[in-house]
Amino acid sequence: MLTCIAISSLAALLLILIAILAVKTAAFKSKQLIVDFKAEYPVDMDAAAGRLSGAVQCPTVSNLDESQVDFEQLARFREYLASSFPLVHSSLDKQVINKHGLLYCWKGSDPAKKPILLLAHQDVVPVTEEGWTHAPFSGAIADGHIWGRGTLDDKDSLMGMLEAVEYLLKDGFGPARSIYMAFGFQEEVGGREGAGKIAEFLKSQGLQFEYVIDEGSVAVQGLVPGITSWVALVGTAEKGYLSLELLTEAGGGHAAWPPHESAVGIVATAVAKLQKQPFPARLAGPAAALFEYLGPEMSFPNKMIFANLWLFRSIVKGKLAAKPGTDALIRTTTAPTMFRGSAQDNVLPVLATAVINFRILPGDTTAGVIARVTEVIGDPRVKVTPLKKLLFEPSPASPTDSWSFGIITKTIREALPATLVAPTLVLTRTDCTYFTGLSACCYRFVPERIPGDELASIHGVNERISIDSYREMINFYIRLMQNSCG
Ligand SMILES: [Zn+2]
Repeated sequence: MLTCIAISSLAALLLILIAILAVKTAAFKSKQLIVDFKAEYPVDMDAAAGRLSGAVQCPTVSNLDESQVDFEQLARFREYLASSFPLVHSSLDKQVINKHGLLYCWKGSDPAKKPILLLAHQDVVPVTEEGWTHAPFSGAIADGHIWGRGTLDDKDSLMGMLEAVEYLLKDGFGPARSIYMAFGFQEEVGGREGAGKIAEFLKSQGLQFEYVIDEGSVAVQGLVPGITSWVALVGTAEKGYLSLELLTEAGGGHAAWPPHESAVGIVATAVAKLQKQPFPARLAGPAAALFEYLGPEMSFPNKMIFANLWLFRSIVKGKLAAKPGTDALIRTTTAPTMFRGSAQDNVLPVLATAVINFRILPGDTTAGVIARVTEVIGDPRVKVTPLKKLLFEPSPASPTDSWSFGIITKTIREALPATLVAPTLVLTRTDCTYFTGLSACCYRFVPERIPGDELASIHGVNERISIDSYREMINFYIRLMQNSCG
């Protein structure tokens, strides 16, 4: 009798559970904006591709060591922009900030409307000559692509924005809301002298922007499990950045009679402890929002799982933790990157150092990371010191229910057909960090489609953009300016 009651109670509980799962899944509705794809503007793509090719041919390579930077190339690039976009340069206010930073303002007719700010950077990362199908600074136009360093990061978006303004000026458009464009330099090594100084200048003018849009994320396909269509990932926050040096001093000496523990061994043990005890995983903020947007677009079993995170959260976290690309969305990551001991194989080190790079999840802080690292190592012989050159707290998260996010989403849906939109957390750092005090709405998205197998060409070999994708990009910026400022 008792067994019968137990079985029927269990069955009732199971039914209730199934009912809750079903109700929550049914209520997990699509967040995709329904808008019609708009016809493209008649942009002269041969000319635009030629201009991007010319931009690639100015090798504006950045370097942490300023003495290694050929600043002449930035001056050349600036002149190239002036000759390529005559209407932009005769109609907009242009300022050069800290020698090479570029700030453009297209004054709107309605001063009551807060301006918008579009960001890109002029510099590119260095190249290795080997492995390129077309020389990295040739700007070759072949096989439906424009080839070379900067075609994806980030000269395409810089040139795309200027193409849009030139087009709109020719078309007689006048913005009601002012449009600013800021192009920093040395972004690839921190950007403090470029975007950092431009942001300081804008703050000194007391400006506030309706929104800021920068690079940091793109449209991808095949990267999100369970989603086959293209997804435009719009970064609503970015992770913080901190490198810590672990240092141990020792007496040095002859390697023939070593101590039980050498300095290298002590630092290696500290590194091993940090790798064994990663920061805890947390599915929250922009990373959680990503699945709120994409979950409803998935097939039934995945949709049910994301609709019922109250039950499946730990399973989802386990799945995400299994791959580096998704693991980085849910925790502060620990990446040992450098190690140094003595200079010769038979010499004991006088000191040993390791450098660990941390990308900090919103909600964590640089101070919190240092405290935890010190605690996990638990060895006073290891000195933990932050490398101050690049140190950034995680950015605040920008809202997804703002007018600005709505305008960007609508523009993506109008300009990039068959593309879903979702907010995301940006894992790398961008110039946008410097502008977070200038707007509550800072988004990181470049409207370029990058197939999964071409993602490695960013900062790698054979960087290239398809002319189709570049055409969509220019269309996106024209439409974005019209939607935001018309
Ligand atoms: Zn970049």
